[in-house]
Amino acid sequence: MAIQKMDKPNEGIRCVVNTCEYYMNGDHCSAKQIEVAPRNASDSEQTDCTTFTKKDTFS
Ligand code: SF4
Repeated sequence: MAIQKMDKPNEGIRCVVNTCEYYMNGDHCSAKQIEVAPRNASDSEQTDCTTFTKKDTFS
C-alpha cells in the first residue's frame, strides 16, 4: 500500500535518513504513517523503518 506523502512534516517523527523519499529538511518525515520492523527485535540497532523508499536523485 502506498503511503501518502504530505506537504508538511509528521510532527511525531524525527528522522535523519536523508536518502529517503519522505525525508524533509530539518530531520522531518513527510510520510502520513510509517511502519517499523521486525517483530521481536532486542535493540534499536535491529529495527528499521520499512516505509523507507530510496529517493530518486535524478528528479
Ligand atoms: S519514511 Fe521512514 S526512513 Fe523515510 S523519512 Fe520517514 S521515518 Fe525516515
